[in-house]
Amino acid sequence: MTAILQTRALGKHFGGLSAVSDVNLEVAAGEIHCLIGPNGAGKSTLFKLVAGTYAPSDGEVLFRGENVTRRKTYERVERGMSVKLQVPSVFRELPVAQNLEVALQRKSSGRALEREKQRLLEFLQLQDDADRPAGILSHGQQQWLEIGMAVALEPALLLLDEPTAGMSPFETERTGEMIKRLNAEGMTMLVVEHDMTFVRQIAQRITVLHLGRVFAQGGIDAIIADPRVEEIYLGK
Ligand code: ADP
Ligand code: MG
Repeated sequence: MTAILQTRALGKHFGGLSAVSDVNLEVAAGEIHCLIGPNGAGKSTLFKLVAGTYAPSDGEVLFRGENVTRRKTYERVERGMSVKLQVPSVFRELPVAQNLEVALQRKSSGRALEREKQRLLEFLQLQDDADRPAGILSHGQQQWLEIGMAVALEPALLLLDEPTAGMSPFETERTGEMIKRLNAEGMTMLVVEHDMTFVRQIAQRITVLHLGRVFAQGGIDAIIADPRVEEIYLGK
């Protein structure tokens, strides 16, 4: 397995609270890796350590073989990471198409940019909303637009924190289809999620966090069959 992302004994505490402790995570090139665990398990904190939003209290982050522990988020983005945080943050006043342009400008210009924009609008099924302000899209559509903006950077690794939060079952399933299509085109994904139906739809391998630590790690079938994982979800 070639790991595109690795964390070594990664930890983050806030005052006396250990949000993440001693986490060794490996994401293989080409896979969809889901990070799951009950509320408060440390998923978003780990995600922000990987993205560079937080500096760790302990340990290291390696991306494409390089130690990026002390790199800023934008430096990680330059190296091929792209991040979508949990809360959508599209430019609400700007038209949908222009939101995509802002992101695409980092990679292309002119006719190439136009072509990419059309391709993304189609992929996101937002062609009919291209000229409407992003702020009037449904919550689910705003999440898609933001995924599109992250994808516009042509990342090697796409990080998504709860991409289906607040979505209807129909929107959730379509999000899963989008993610699988991007993965089939070669994009590696690390997805934080607690909706297990969605995890079953997309995941190839899973890391389970509990109380800030890795509780279990493995292929989708092994994790789903693990009765201990069910127990922590039910809060036993
Ligand atoms: P999850 O995303 O799995 O729900 P989080 O990573 O958001 O979990 O939180 C893990 C723990 O760390 C929780 O106990 C939470 O209250 C705490 N925590 C998260 N962020 C902060 C912060 N910025 N300051 C203090 N405590 C935090
Ligand atoms: Mg979270």
